[in-house]
Amino acid sequence: MERMYLDHAATTPVRGEVLQAMLPYFSEIYGNANSLHWFGRRAACATDDARDGVAACIGAMPSEVYFTSGGTEADNWALCGAARANAAKGRHIVVSAIEHAAVLAAAKQMEAEGFEVAYAPVDADGRADLSRLEALLRPDTTLVAVMAANNEVGTLQPVSEISALVRPRGILLFCDAVQAAGVLPLDVNAPAVDLLSLSAHKFGGPKGVGALYVRSGVKMGKLVAGGHQERGMRGGTTNVPAVVGLCAALRLVREEQAQTAAHLAALRDAFVGRVLRGAEGAALSGAGAARLPGIAHLTFAGLDGEAILYSLDLAGVAASAGAACSSGSLEPSHVLRAMGMPDALARSGVRFSFGKENTEREAERAADILIEVVARLRALGGARA
Ligand code: PLP
Repeated sequence: MERMYLDHAATTPVRGEVLQAMLPYFSEIYGNANSLHWFGRRAACATDDARDGVAACIGAMPSEVYFTSGGTEADNWALCGAARANAAKGRHIVVSAIEHAAVLAAAKQMEAEGFEVAYAPVDADGRADLSRLEALLRPDTTLVAVMAANNEVGTLQPVSEISALVRPRGILLFCDAVQAAGVLPLDVNAPAVDLLSLSAHKFGGPKGVGALYVRSGVKMGKLVAGGHQERGMRGGTTNVPAVVGLCAALRLVREEQAQTAAHLAALRDAFVGRVLRGAEGAALSGAGAARLPGIAHLTFAGLDGEAILYSLDLAGVAASAGAACSSGSLEPSHVLRAMGMPDALARSGVRFSFGKENTEREAERAADILIEVVARLRALGGARA
């Protein structure tokens, strides 16, 4: 059976060029980047080059880039590290209601530490509501967290407008760019942000490595106590192959950004157009807002999203509930809830996310399979109890 992978928002395959760039650092160049001898210096050289490369790709200085074990760690560090380090100024932070669990769980942790957290609402398309966000800002607000693009629905957030709103008041802006990095231009100065997180496995790099940008001068707490790695902020022997892979993947993504975005948008639009025409009750979530080119979140009123996913998988199409239900729980997604979507409709949602290796033929075939699945489930009386 031909299998189609339409779950690139969950993770992407490591690109061949990236793997080749990483391979020597597993075996030939295995030194500890902190060792002073020749073996260590070669590893340190690769780490420096990776830091320079990541910095250049996002318009930062190398001294502002810290490597982490991925997006979750970068998000936790950004939120908790900045909130704690700036607590003397205030203990109030604002987090958009549709952030990834890595940010929301960190916010909960800060609440447990006695911080006050306000959740900024979004409109029906999943876009942060500027005036309501502004109304949440207080003199003791130290940090606002708003992602560049949502991972479930793909909605782009008004980061420029939010930057203009919060930074002149001396409030730090943290942007989770984990989903945006593979497809949108990234520049920490346009729009200006103070903290920005990345994760390599979302754009053709390896899993378990990411980066946090911290603008020079921003007060930040340590993440991991240990050695002097990452300028004393995050202890632990540097994962040299991983940071080399992160940099190689990001460089490729930057070079190919416009072309990739156009390709993904064409696939998504062909797919969505066909599904909306052919599948009864299909609706595109966030349709009124600008969205990431590769993500399409669709609902199928009256059906169960998980039943659709299982049927798609049996037919060779890999998609995702888009965290519509976190596994094992029947709780509908916090993102769809924040958009005001009724729970029953949210439970019918499926996320399709395209990648650069997908073809137009695949997009059309996947749409035809989905149309067939929806028709079959409806014929079976697949309405939810
Ligand atoms: N932030 C967003 C928006 C994401 O989509 C993800 C991954 O799903 C993460 C953070 C977490 O990244 P990682 O898988 O590298 O921990």
